[in-house]
Amino acid sequence: LFCSIVAGRIPATIVDETETTLAFRDIAPVSPTHVLVIPKQHVASLDEAAAADPGIAADVISRCVHVAGLEGLSEGYRVVINNGDNGGQEVGHLHAHVLGGRAHSWPPG
Ligand code: AMP
Repeated sequence: LFCSIVAGRIPATIVDETETTLAFRDIAPVSPTHVLVIPKQHVASLDEAAAADPGIAADVISRCVHVAGLEGLSEGYRVVINNGDNGGQEVGHLHAHVLGGRAHSWPPG
């Protein structure tokens, strides 16, 4: 699915792009700002990314910080990566959620 967004076959609202990453708005936002940051390279999960090259996750996370700046989240934000079934991962392409624009409670659901 997210490879199709990278390829331009499925439309998305892109907010940031680098040679290696893409950031676009979540189709079903749970916060006023809800952006997904993905590696353009297909890796299914955080587990798979870490096994392939730990730099992939570092690249994605550092781009999340950049996106938070673009979105003006100076009051704070949350970065979430769901991994596997118990993590609540639904899409099998690594993605980090950047959530902001409201306070987020802890623990998560
Ligand atoms: P996760 O549960 O971490 O796998 O999150 C998957 C996220 O992808 C959910 O928040 C969905 O709303 C979002 N999503 C699914 N399809 C699309 C799409 N075509 N464009 C943007 N976001 C999507």
